[in-house]
Amino acid sequence: MIQTVVSAGLPVGENLMIQKKRMMGKQTEGPGSFGRISIVTGIHGDELEGQYVCYELARRLEEASEQLYGIVDIYPALNPLGMDTRHRAIPQFEMDMNRIFPGNRDGAVMERVAASVVEDLIGSDVCIDVHSSNAFNREVTQVRISQDFKERLLPFAKLLNTEMIWLNATETVHESTLAHSMNMLGVPTLVVEMGLGAAINMDYGNRIVDGILNLMREMGLWKGAVGQIRQPAVVLDSAIQFIRAQKEGIFLPSISHEARVEKGEVLGRIVDVLHTSVQEEITAPCDGMVFTLREYPMVYEGALLMRILMEQGEESGQSCT
Ligand SMILES: [Zn+2]
Repeated sequence: MIQTVVSAGLPVGENLMIQKKRMMGKQTEGPGSFGRISIVTGIHGDELEGQYVCYELARRLEEASEQLYGIVDIYPALNPLGMDTRHRAIPQFEMDMNRIFPGNRDGAVMERVAASVVEDLIGSDVCIDVHSSNAFNREVTQVRISQDFKERLLPFAKLLNTEMIWLNATETVHESTLAHSMNMLGVPTLVVEMGLGAAINMDYGNRIVDGILNLMREMGLWKGAVGQIRQPAVVLDSAIQFIRAQKEGIFLPSISHEARVEKGEVLGRIVDVLHTSVQEEITAPCDGMVFTLREYPMVYEGALLMRILMEQGEESGQSCT
């Protein structure tokens, strides 16, 4: 069943409409009780990995609908105008939609839209907010959790079949994100990050669909098949090494995404095309796995080139020297 969450006229004459697909299964344990999971995506209009996750999850649930218990709500496009025009932000307002939550019923139009989304999500037992990096950097599958909600969210996060769980990633700490707002309101909300903006990696998407079904099975919402589930590395900021460009130019990596690298290994170069020169050679500061890799080749000083998950850095907070 397709439902309209909010419909709002915009000053430019366009109409912003957010819709969801509600899938109803059998009643869960307890009289009159229906467990509920919500999947949201498309807050950032240039992130499309969640489109495949929503499609494939619904497809698998429909294929074996007799195995479904409770309610699954799928919100594929929280920023539909951004998605239509490949805009990260909300096009007419040039505002990041993930900075206006929990919204305000009496505020400006986008604040009212945000408030409607939050009201609609309240009542979910778990919410998953699927992101896909941006157009510049490729990411492995990961859940990002703020330390504030670690106790509550970590058990759910471990079920989601990701490569890693990043505790306290700064992106998730911002107070006006959807995830932070929902967690403050008592709805456990997990941020999944993966892949690359403006692209779809179906392998990653399938892993996350398996993970969501695994979580649903634990919640008693799904009795059907679940694929092989991996154990994620749980890491703190201190186990992650950021590598930034020191020079501007064209970045030519010599390793691939998800590569295991050794300290001192050459990871890539930044070259000056006009002068045919190597401006910078990037070497690994430690052993580890390249979980973030720059895909957009133009770089400037300070641009993020890679993030390395340090070997044996998991939860120990070991520093990289
Ligand atoms: Zn995002």
